[in-house]
Formats: sequence, structure tokens, C-alpha cells
Amino acid sequence: MYLSESLKKIREPWLEGITHRLSRGETGRATLVVEMERFFDMLIQAVESGDPGWLKPVLIDWAASRTETDIENEEITLSPVLNLIMDELVDKVNHHLPDDEAVVVISGLIPILYYSYEQIAQHEMRVRVGYFTALLEKVSTDLSRLDRSKSDFISVAAHELKTPLTLIEGYSSMLEDILTKTDQGNQVSMLMDGIHKGIFRLGVMINDMIDISLIDNQMLSLKYQPTWINRILKGLVAELDEFVDDRQQTLVVQDFPGSDEMIFADTERLEQALRNVLTNAIKYTPDGGQVLVSGRLLSGFIEIRVEDSGIGIAPQDQLVIFEKFSSLGDVKLHSSSKINFKGGGPGLGLPIAKGILEAHGGSIWVESDGYNEDTLPGSVFHILLPMRKHPPDEQMARLFDPSHKSTLPKE
Ligand code: ADP
Repeated sequence: MYLSESLKKIREPWLEGITHRLSRGETGRATLVVEMERFFDMLIQAVESGDPGWLKPVLIDWAASRTETDIENEEITLSPVLNLIMDELVDKVNHHLPDDEAVVVISGLIPILYYSYEQIAQHEMRVRVGYFTALLEKVSTDLSRLDRSKSDFISVAAHELKTPLTLIEGYSSMLEDILTKTDQGNQVSMLMDGIHKGIFRLGVMINDMIDISLIDNQMLSLKYQPTWINRILKGLVAELDEFVDDRQQTLVVQDFPGSDEMIFADTERLEQALRNVLTNAIKYTPDGGQVLVSGRLLSGFIEIRVEDSGIGIAPQDQLVIFEKFSSLGDVKLHSSSKINFKGGGPGLGLPIAKGILEAHGGSIWVESDGYNEDTLPGSVFHILLPMRKHPPDEQMARLFDPSHKSTLPKE
């Protein structure tokens, strides 16, 4: 007897059993019956032709009917449904067919059902991969949109704040002129000093916001000129001397090979980057600590090391601190002072330093054994800068090239 003939004998009881087991109430029962009939008919075709492919369209339709919520809730798999179908088939074969016929039918069904599992698994895997790829793409688009709008906001806010700040600056100078001519000169100059400091700090913050949006938009333009690292460092030591004294710290800058050589860089920007790193070293080191600046000459590069005896940085934060606003999480630590111990700022200092150094073709990274306010493991910031012996810009190159013969017409 043909296998398909045996199967046809269990069609009705199987349909009855499987719809009962799969349906959850009356709703959808009619569709379920249609689908199960379709499955059984295709099973007969597969058995008669010896080609399990007959079942593929039914299985794919079932898999495709899963909704996004099913996929999200990991309810995508149809394996439990196939298990029930298989179980019901075996049950009905055992009940309605004699033993020898039942054995033949079940062994004939095994390869077909194996094929069904395989088809479902492959299809579901493709759907899942597609779903999560789309989800990742969406998250990544959303994140870049968010970053874009954050950066646009900083840029607009900074420019909008700059205008009133310039007005305040102008009017307060005029006010100072008028008031210092009166009897209360001393008191006024003390008050005005406070106002000027506030204006200066606000100006620095606004400029930082403008710089970070220039860096974000890859619009930071460098003015290459002859630069000496040791001169920049000397200037910074003089500038920060007052703060170092306030904190009873020592700031030592060692001479190192290459630091006295002329290179081409944007002096002001480089000074800004180094200032940010040095003020951090002072800020995150307790009173009485040390900051040591040293370096070495490498092939084509100069390395500057800024080492402090401060609180150090946890390994998981050593990359994050170079991202803008990385210190925002710790708002309670924010301080209006430039060098207060642990007085966190807006978290723009290191991202700006990184942006400036990368625009020069250099880099910056940090090494630290971790964060610990008791054992003070300290941090070492490494700054790598190309030893550019010629300015990248052609006009500048001509200006600074000693072998260059003047092209000016002779008198
Ligand atoms: P902030 O304005 O908060 O100082 P920065 O971008 O300059 O922003 O630094 C980001 C964060 O990196 C700081 O908030 C601080 O947590 C950490 N950090 C920077 N330099 C040091 C240092 N030398 N020692 C310990 N932590 C540091």
C-alpha cells in the first residue's frame, strides 16, 4: 500500500486533534483548519512525489506571518507548532493503523518532517538577522542624528551667547571707567575685578563650545608657523605658576630631545591643547602633589608626557574621557574654579585637546593604574606630535624656505 493511502486514513482524526491542540478559543479556528488542511494536502504531495519541497510554501507562509512583536518577544520560532504536528501525526498513526503499517508510515514521515524543521530554522534565522540588522541600523542612525543635533545646539548656543557677552564686556569696562573716577575707587575696582573674571571664564567656556563644534564638523583650521615645544611649555608654567602655588604642588618641566627644535605647528592651538592637559593634571592631583612634564624624540614624532601624582583614571574611562561632555555624569563635582581639586568642568578640555592634536596628525592617550583617591596611582598623558620640518601649506613653505629666492621684481 502506498504511504499516501495510509496517511489519508488519518486525515480527519488528525485535523480534529491538531486544531483542538493549536486553537486558543474559537477566534481564528476557521483559518487554522484551512492552514492544517493545506499542510496535510502538501504532506500527501510530498510523500507521493518523494519531494519534501512541496511543504516549503506552507512553512514559509507560516514563518512570514510572525509579527515584529513575536520577533521582539522571541516568540518567532515555529518549532513548537511542528512538534505538536509531529506528535499528533504519530498519535493518530498509532491509533488508526495496524502496527506494521504504522512503522512504515512513521519512518516515511521522518525525513519529511526533518526537512520541515530545517526549512523553518533557516527561514527564521534569516528573518531574525534581518530584523536585528535593521534595528541596529536604526539605532545607529538615531545616535548620529542625536550627536548631530547636540553638536548643532552647541554651535548655535555658543554663537548666540557670544554677542551678549561682548556687550556685557564693553559696558562693564565703560562702567569701570566712570566709577573709578569716584571716591569709592578701591571698592569698585574689587567688584569690577570679580565681574571681569566672570566674563573671562564665560568667554573661555563659549570659545570651548565653538571649538568643539568646529572639531565635530571637521572645520578646525590650523595656522602653521614655527613652533618650539619648550617655549610653549615655559609659557604655560609661568601662566599656571599661581595655581600650582595655591595648591602647594610642584610643576616640573624637563628638557628633552626635540623640545628645543623648531617645528611647524599651530602654536596657539598646541598651547591650548597642552594647557588643557596640564590644568587637568593640577586639578585631579591633591594639594602638595607633583606634575612632571617630560618627553622623547621618536622617528618623525615628538612625544610629550604629562605625569601627575593624582587620583588616576579607571581603565573603563580611559577612552571615554576624550569624548565630549564625558564628565557630565558627575554634575555635583562641577566647580566654577579652574583648578579646584576635582573641580570638573563641562568635559570639553580633553576632546578639544584630542581634536587639535589629531588635526596636526598627532594623537593623545592616557595610561593609569586606575582611580583611587587614597592610593593616588596618578595618570600619564602621552601626546604624540609629528616633527613637521616644513609647513604643509605651500604659501607658508615659500615664506619659511631659506633657499627660496625672492620673486619680487628688482628695483
Ligand atoms: P573637565 O572639564 O571635566 O575637566 P576634561 O575633558 O578636561 O573635562 O576631562 C574629562 C574628565 O577626565 C575629567 O572630568 C576627569 O574625570 C578626567 N581627567 C582628566 N584629566 C585627568 C587627570 N590628570 N587625572 C584624573 N582624571 C582626569
